[in-house]
Amino acid sequence: MDELSNFENNVNMSSSEDTISDESESITENTGEDTGAQDTNSAICINKDGKKQLIYHCKSHEEALQYVKKYELATTTRFVVFKANKNFGRTDILTKTHNVLWDDFAIPYSGMPFIIVSSKVLDCHHGFDRNISVKKNYQVKKQKTNMDDHCFQKNYVVLQDTKKFMCPAKINMREILQFPDFKISERSVWRQNKASKMLREKLKTSSLNEIFHIRIIVVAIDDVSCHDKHLFGPAELIAQSIDPLISKKIEEYVMEGVFNVREMKRLLRIAVNDIFEKANLPPPNNRRFFPRVDTIRSHIVKIKQKLRQKCKSFIFL
Ligand SMILES: [Zn+2]
Repeated sequence: MDELSNFENNVNMSSSEDTISDESESITENTGEDTGAQDTNSAICINKDGKKQLIYHCKSHEEALQYVKKYELATTTRFVVFKANKNFGRTDILTKTHNVLWDDFAIPYSGMPFIIVSSKVLDCHHGFDRNISVKKNYQVKKQKTNMDDHCFQKNYVVLQDTKKFMCPAKINMREILQFPDFKISERSVWRQNKASKMLREKLKTSSLNEIFHIRIIVVAIDDVSCHDKHLFGPAELIAQSIDPLISKKIEEYVMEGVFNVREMKRLLRIAVNDIFEKANLPPPNNRRFFPRVDTIRSHIVKIKQKLRQKCKSFIFL
């Protein structure tokens, strides 16, 4: 019975709304350090499916996206959002009861209970084609429009289809709320169950902003070894298509009358320098940001054609 009363004292003391024990304060500090923007923040884990993943604990959704971008640049991969909860990273109302957890493959045990309130999943852009029906409808609609009226729109080959190689690599983001006031001093099933029950009760009877919590975004990025069925590394650096930002820049310069390929290449290099800070500048053989001369040329030609078509349709109107 001594253990029970000690535990209750402990829980009562740390769950009081006014005072936070020294212990809880030091936890908050540690968490702050752990979730810093340094790369030391990452850990490598093996998840339940045996996949090797890079784990990041971030303070915000924005910080999580920075890690994704870093990974994309370092590995010449690209990810697209498959699904995400509304307001991911900013959940402020709990609409259902959540399981109280104490640890998992990406979150080491700290004595502090937590709940998972929302999630976001990104697929490698060489991954499963989740929009087959949407694309089919679009194609049918487009063919119908082409038959209906004589428009001058050129039918470009849909490059998107060739990108899908069923690569299984993913990024999982989870929005997590930790509750320092419900921390247990020593790990035991009994203490966990007791504190979980108290936390669930508290969550049921109070709104989230009345309960002290720490919000973190836990990002699990599949290791490069998880990518499959597509070019990778140096080959992908050269093969990858140019970044939408760069093709937009080319369009802008063509509109301004720049048709010379060398001059365009020079302007694009300046643009890339402006986009990235010096330390984050992609390597010069990264074709996503430093396209080859012939790629630039074909883009210039394509944009000129597009502009000409626009003029023609204008004249024929
Ligand atoms: Zn992949």
